[in-house]
Amino acid sequence: MKNDQRNILFTFDYELFLGSRSGSIQNCLIKPTDLLIQLFENHKINNALFFVDTTYLLRLKQQEHPACKNDLKIISEQLITLVKKGHSVFPHIHPHWLDAVYDPTENQWALTNYSKYRFHSITASKQEELFTQSVQLLREIIYPHFPDYTINGYRAGGWSINPFADFKPLFKKHGIKYEFSVLKGFKNLSEAQYFDFTNCPAEPIYKFEDDPCHRSDNGNFTEYCISSIPKTNSFVSKLWDKYLWKTGQRSMGDGYSVTGMEAMETNGKEMISVELLSKAKLPSYKFFLKENNYMHFISHPKMLSLHNLSCFDNFLSFAQKNFVLQTNFTLF
Ligand SMILES: [Zn+2]
Repeated sequence: MKNDQRNILFTFDYELFLGSRSGSIQNCLIKPTDLLIQLFENHKINNALFFVDTTYLLRLKQQEHPACKNDLKIISEQLITLVKKGHSVFPHIHPHWLDAVYDPTENQWALTNYSKYRFHSITASKQEELFTQSVQLLREIIYPHFPDYTINGYRAGGWSINPFADFKPLFKKHGIKYEFSVLKGFKNLSEAQYFDFTNCPAEPIYKFEDDPCHRSDNGNFTEYCISSIPKTNSFVSKLWDKYLWKTGQRSMGDGYSVTGMEAMETNGKEMISVELLSKAKLPSYKFFLKENNYMHFISHPKMLSLHNLSCFDNFLSFAQKNFVLQTNFTLF
């Protein structure tokens, strides 16, 4: 590998808000994702990964309401565009969508019952049904346009990939080989979100078989860990956040996040994410790229502000100018 090459992975959880108000598809998904598509096109970058909240799409599909049919149509068109532009769409399951209540007057959803937040909290037969329907729905959307497209990656909702015994037979059945949920060093042992990534292998990419936190060189699956940087609590960074808030440069999404959940333990780190990228943090993102030959972003279209996107634009220019970027994870 040339020492100016960098393996860089841009991943997005393509989902509405998961709390009492889902927000609209235009503000949470369509508009921010269109801006991302344009930005990637400007920088000639492809292979971004979009983890699609398939339980939501399955609920949309079940509804008779014309607004739901229309939302599913618009989303499907955007997913096809993403694949057409060289990006990937993979499933991402948030099972508590099964209990979401549709509000036809607002054309939004209320997600207030978190009892099924974890994949582990639904029955094995429901897990099988939901996973299979998720893969099938993405196939139904993509295959008529791209019959050779392969769905072989997954990210768990709420990072809750363990116990992997829930997923292993489903990964095998559906040909999922690549896993993207491990946020090394982070931990949350609450009922709703349950993961402990504090004892993972040192390397960012490794094979595994029964546990995504345990390296197994003959394993059938490959883990691509999400990158993080030390959390900045600097005065300048806080001042920037305050300034951006006051000047209205906030997330485009218009829903409410999940409330009342225990915060995760982060060991003084934060994820590398477009929505956390501000002008104050740009130097540390550039420094990370200089120092590491692997950088895995995790972001959410619904959380993006125009300020985040302009900083991301600046970061991509820097990255392109200084390094040869490899964005196809199968070639890392
Ligand atoms: Zn998610």
